[in-house]
Amino acid sequence: MYRAKAEGRHTVRHFSPEMDQALQARRVLALDLERALRMEEFELFYQPIVNIVTEEVIGFEALLRWWHPEQGLILPSEFISLAEEKGFILVLGEWVLRRACRDAAEWPTPLTVSVNLSALQLRSAKLVRTIVHALSESGLAVGRLMLEITESVLLQKDTASTANLAQLKNLGVAIAMDDFGTGYSSLSTLHRFSFDKIKIDRSFVHDLPEGSSAIAIVRSVTSLAKSLGIGVTAEGVETRAQLQLLRAEGCHEAQGYLFGPPRPANELAEILAHRKQWDVAAA
Ligand code: C2E
Ligand code: CA
Ligand code: CA
Repeated sequence: MYRAKAEGRHTVRHFSPEMDQALQARRVLALDLERALRMEEFELFYQPIVNIVTEEVIGFEALLRWWHPEQGLILPSEFISLAEEKGFILVLGEWVLRRACRDAAEWPTPLTVSVNLSALQLRSAKLVRTIVHALSESGLAVGRLMLEITESVLLQKDTASTANLAQLKNLGVAIAMDDFGTGYSSLSTLHRFSFDKIKIDRSFVHDLPEGSSAIAIVRSVTSLAKSLGIGVTAEGVETRAQLQLLRAEGCHEAQGYLFGPPRPANELAEILAHRKQWDVAAA
């Protein structure tokens, strides 16, 4: 049934041995998740976010990695939804917040650290307490933490999420809308809550510089952000041509393989030392 739903609904899929294997693998992975936290198999990688006007790194996004003892490196796309399904994302998300604050407090310059939040975390009654604790135990200034949430997280209009967001904003934590443009209610979500930043989803950036509708979307999101007086970051910037177009459109921040992939925490000092290696000026 799930296979039929995943492949476009209104269709029939027959059971096959591979499906059973996939289910088994998922079940095993779910059990492994709980062990992984105890055994310290998780690690946070950091990807630079760059001001493309001043050419400086302005912060890093924390991205979760799992070093599985048998399977090697596992990316979040393979385990975040499983962790959400099992409710395990609450403890895992707490670990991420504490780790990211502690890491950022050690950085040589007071840059922003961005942390991804899942829907379940945002609804959790413990969220604000967890964040206050992560900030105080690490000594990280509240203004250096930015939380990234996708619009789908706010679709339900549930009061718990809205109340948490309001409280976090009051504390001085910045909130970014992630993957902007991929959900269903981007504009009404922007209207309902004052975000500090919009992140343009990489699917639009991918089609630059030729795709005319992608250009139109980047242009309107950039000008929308400007009118709202908030920041805008283009995600998934891989080429100089994309960068050039983004600059021409007045987008001020970017993130992507062009500036560097996510890297382990202990490599950040080196990234900062060579921060102009991408040679934005020449792009
Ligand atoms: P995201 O928040 O949109 O993060 C950006 C993703 O794009 C990362 O994938 C990053 O490695 C990838 N990326 C960065 N630059 C480029 C580029 O130039 N080209 C392409 N093609 N991709 C690029 P990653 O690390 O695999 O993470 C995938 C998603 O998993 C994230 O998407 C985020 O939604 C989720 N995630 C990651 N860490 C956490 C976490 O700690 N908690 C929660 N709840 N979700 C997380
Ligand atoms: Ca993100
Ligand atoms: Ca994103």
